[in-house]
Amino acid sequence: MTVHSHSIPVSAQRDMLQIAIVGRGFSGMMMAIALLKTVTRPFQLRLFDPHPTVSGGQALASTHSSEILNSRVRDLSVSGEPADFTDWLTENLAFRQAVPAAIPGFGQIFVQKAIFSDYVYQRFSEALAERRDVTVQMLNEIIVGVRRTADHRFLVGIGDGSELRCDVVFLATGYGAKEPLPDIVRDRSPIAAGHRLGGSRHVVVLGNGLRAVDRVLQLRDSGFTGEITILSRRGFLPQAHTRLSADPVFPAQAMPKHLPAIMRFVRQVCAQAEADGKGWQAAMNGLRKRARSLWSALPQKEKRQFNRHLRAIYDSHRNRLPADMHARLERELAGGMTQMKRGRAMKRTQDGVLVRWRGQDVDGLLLADEVIDCRCLSPDLADPLIAGMLEAGLAIKDELELGLAVKGSGEVLTPKGGPGGLFAIGPLGLGSLPDIDLVPEIVTQAYTAAALVATSGLGNRPSPTGRRLADTAGAFPEVFA
Ligand SMILES: Cc1cc2nc3c(=O)[nH]c(=O)nc-3n(C[C@H](O)[C@H](O)[C@H](O)COP(=O)(O)OP(=O)(O)OC[C@H]3O[C@@H](n4cnc5c(N)ncnc54)[C@H](O)[C@@H]3O)c2cc1C
Repeated sequence: MTVHSHSIPVSAQRDMLQIAIVGRGFSGMMMAIALLKTVTRPFQLRLFDPHPTVSGGQALASTHSSEILNSRVRDLSVSGEPADFTDWLTENLAFRQAVPAAIPGFGQIFVQKAIFSDYVYQRFSEALAERRDVTVQMLNEIIVGVRRTADHRFLVGIGDGSELRCDVVFLATGYGAKEPLPDIVRDRSPIAAGHRLGGSRHVVVLGNGLRAVDRVLQLRDSGFTGEITILSRRGFLPQAHTRLSADPVFPAQAMPKHLPAIMRFVRQVCAQAEADGKGWQAAMNGLRKRARSLWSALPQKEKRQFNRHLRAIYDSHRNRLPADMHARLERELAGGMTQMKRGRAMKRTQDGVLVRWRGQDVDGLLLADEVIDCRCLSPDLADPLIAGMLEAGLAIKDELELGLAVKGSGEVLTPKGGPGGLFAIGPLGLGSLPDIDLVPEIVTQAYTAAALVATSGLGNRPSPTGRRLADTAGAFPEVFA
């Protein structure tokens, strides 16, 4: 499916910079926007994803239109202008009528995924409409491999057996393309009140993030009055956003270098923010701005300790629930019909789910009429695409093996340095870059990567006339108008 192609002659298309984006989740779509707005020379862009709809991936796709994002509007701009999403909402009459907040207050509110999704796709369409010198194709294909060619380009292996020659490849595969745990039902369809559920039935929700909480509250909204168990390995549910502005605060002084001292320091800063009436959330927002340098300076052993013992706590403080939702969750837990239990789901059985309870070494059966999987996933390094690249020396794992080792721009590191032209955008870089699974960080990374493509001469090669493509960039719009 070609989304956009002004009548550019085929011979000229061949000489254009060839770019592939693998994955059309938020990271892939964001990368496309950044390229369209930043790379001024003509290019051919292909976005691959086996899922036929441009769904927005994990963050935006939702069968429940009511699901709320856990970031404030002010933090979700995709244009490079911080107020862009707020401005978009302000111009959206239907939204303004539905939401009571005063216009300046829009930056502080939380909106449904569906609204953010509309905004992202509108900005993508607008960026595309501005470019008469670019072609974009959406291909419903899985990418199975990437190879380096002798002329420093890439051959992208497509699921149908064909290969595509590219100058630049962006991996935006997020949490992978595979179906998670086939024997556990994934959270896909809304459960209506009457569907297998009645007053005395029991639903188990796996996970402890925003999606799990959302699902619990939706079950109640849809009239479910039975028992709910939230099953999570560590048992930390998201904390609440403050109703205050939570603008980042953090002391400028040098931070301690080791984990225990860092933890003490962060606790003190949070306590101070509370004492100053700003809320600990403002300190956590400030900490996020220092997280990248802190993480890279931490010894490997302490990174592992953080991952094992502290990541779940950090996540529950950075991925926060809007205050109203959090209050509802607390009431729900206090009411007794919803409880949180700590354990790992091992296998779905006919009667429920087999659980390794925390602190025990045998599995027990948790009876359930419905098991809904709302766990956060991790990037899948065993995916044939990623595994093949690792084997071919096109990429290396980060030191904790959470994902690929990348620079801030997403450039993938290899045993020999950076190959140039190969990027991993978003969660694939989570082991190198803390918080790169969040919208603001993905936006910044996408623009940084696009700027590199725009300025580095990637893909510049002699054209048939002997001139390099970048030199002719200004001429293309007239030629192809
Ligand atoms: C429920 C939820 C709520 C969130 N809410 C927020 C929020 O409020 N604020 C915030 O900042 N962040 C939020 N996030 C986090 C952030 O937005 C996500 O990390 C984001 O989903 C990352 O998107 P992605 O495109 O990298 O990955 P994904 O969403 O996983 O998309 C990856 C895409 O790549 C495709 N793919 C994978 N492998 C291949 C292959 N080999 N070939 C072709 N295609 C492939 C997949 O089919 C998929 O469509 C949320 C995340 C989730 C899951």
